[in-house]
Amino acid sequence: GNADLDCDLLVLGGGPGGYSAAFRAADLGLKVVLVERYATLGGVCLNVGCIPSKALLHVAAVMDEVGHLAAAGIEFGAPTVNVETLRGHKEKVVGKLTGGLAAMAKMRKVTIVRGYGSFVGANHLEVEETTGTAQDKTGSKKTIAFKRAIIAAGSQAVRLPFMPEDPRVVDSTGALALQGVPKRMLILGGGIIGLEMGTVYSTLGARLDVVEMMDGLMQGADRDLVKIWQKMNAKRFDNIMLKTKTVGAEATPEGIKVTFAAAEEGGQAPEPQTYDLVLQAVGRTPNGKKIAADKAGVAVTDRGFINVDIQMRTNVPHIFAIGDIVGQPMLAHKAVHEAHVAAEVIAGELQGNQELASAAFNARVIPSVAYTDPEVAWVGLTEDQAKAQGIKVKKGLFPWTASGRAIANGRDEGVTKLLFDDSPEAHGHGKILGGGIVGTHAGDMIGEIALAIEMGADAVDIGKTIHPHPTLGESIGMAAEIAHGSCTDVP
Ligand code: FAD
Repeated sequence: GNADLDCDLLVLGGGPGGYSAAFRAADLGLKVVLVERYATLGGVCLNVGCIPSKALLHVAAVMDEVGHLAAAGIEFGAPTVNVETLRGHKEKVVGKLTGGLAAMAKMRKVTIVRGYGSFVGANHLEVEETTGTAQDKTGSKKTIAFKRAIIAAGSQAVRLPFMPEDPRVVDSTGALALQGVPKRMLILGGGIIGLEMGTVYSTLGARLDVVEMMDGLMQGADRDLVKIWQKMNAKRFDNIMLKTKTVGAEATPEGIKVTFAAAEEGGQAPEPQTYDLVLQAVGRTPNGKKIAADKAGVAVTDRGFINVDIQMRTNVPHIFAIGDIVGQPMLAHKAVHEAHVAAEVIAGELQGNQELASAAFNARVIPSVAYTDPEVAWVGLTEDQAKAQGIKVKKGLFPWTASGRAIANGRDEGVTKLLFDDSPEAHGHGKILGGGIVGTHAGDMIGEIALAIEMGADAVDIGKTIHPHPTLGESIGMAAEIAHGSCTDVP
């Protein structure tokens, strides 16, 4: 045809979903073209999400840890913060990773086309070339013909319509740009992203308010875990406004004046407040409506999602979709696993490999982590869900006040909780259904619980697994022993 390029597989979007799919497909022998509008690969996660936020959160955690050492007789002076150097550090971290991705793409001979892609047919994508960091379009266009396509165009932050255009109103990308440290900051939305950014800014010196429509912060996690996090973080906040909506905002010389309303009828609305910085963290919206998917016949929902089956296939059999654009949870590790499924199915079909062609996304569970201080991590069924759904569970709850390592670390506020099937059919040997941890390094530990769920482990399997002493990970073995009723002593 009259295409400038042709390939076996076109991947639209270079985030964790897109690059993982492109790399797996190239490794399986396909000719792959990857289209990305930005100068670097890595998408939201590497450039303005997971990685820069963790670079800043690490610094914040160390700063806070230093404060805890006073109880051990070690005192430091008040820290001085050089925001510019810190920003540079964060950018260096991101640069290392995105540079690594570019090298990996080259090694695999994945062709990268820089530009804004939209479908022009069921087997053609048009790319308007972009330059610079600001997505400037150069006016030059390329058409790419493909046998198969994977849509991995991701998501972007929701912007409230009444928010003024003002440098003092930011989304997570603006907050990560770290232009300075405000005195008073409002976090709009009490979810993971808002609370992580709030942690960074408050450690750097900002006072926080948070406003949340629901009746608690960090929705999705068990309330008993969140309560511990909240107690440890109470001093960061002036006001935690729950069951409250933000209904207006006005840019004034003194700051952004925000007005609130009760989310429920009869509720009390807080007084308007003025802030130096307002972070909008009220969710993310998929980019499904911006890629002319209809030209390829791909159905997009009203909200901009693309529905797929367990092979990640859209309604058009040779076009697949993965990552944030296919739905919740919007997490990088979900995108990567979906990417591998789609790439394998496609390679299998094009190469007549039945085993690969029958790949499917069948993970039982996807872990969630708030990388706050302490961290909160959970996977599978939560206790609150079990209660709401009437699922009988046996709980093993291990408080870290009994963990030698947590005490030695001066951080024994945590708990580790495991939930086992306690239905009559389980006959007292129920498999693990879920788990949650609040405490330092909870995110690093939750993978073991995910593995236990995937393997169908019961409390004896986990309790009899020898965990190294003294570690925080031991708390998982102890929680299993408690659930099993075989815990007689604690370290
Ligand atoms: P994206 O990463 O959004 O990538 C999509 C890519 O497609 C982008 O690079 C975009 O430029 C490109 N694109 C879109 N449309 C076009 C087009 N038409 N033409 C060309 N290119 C296009 N997840 C975690 O698992 N752990 C975390 O700790 C974590 N922290 C986060 C912190 C923040 C502040 C944010 C905002 C998100 C965080 N996430 C985290 C979520 C994670 O970033 C996303 O789930 C992940 O990036 C989704 O990957 P994706 O490949 O689906 O899409």
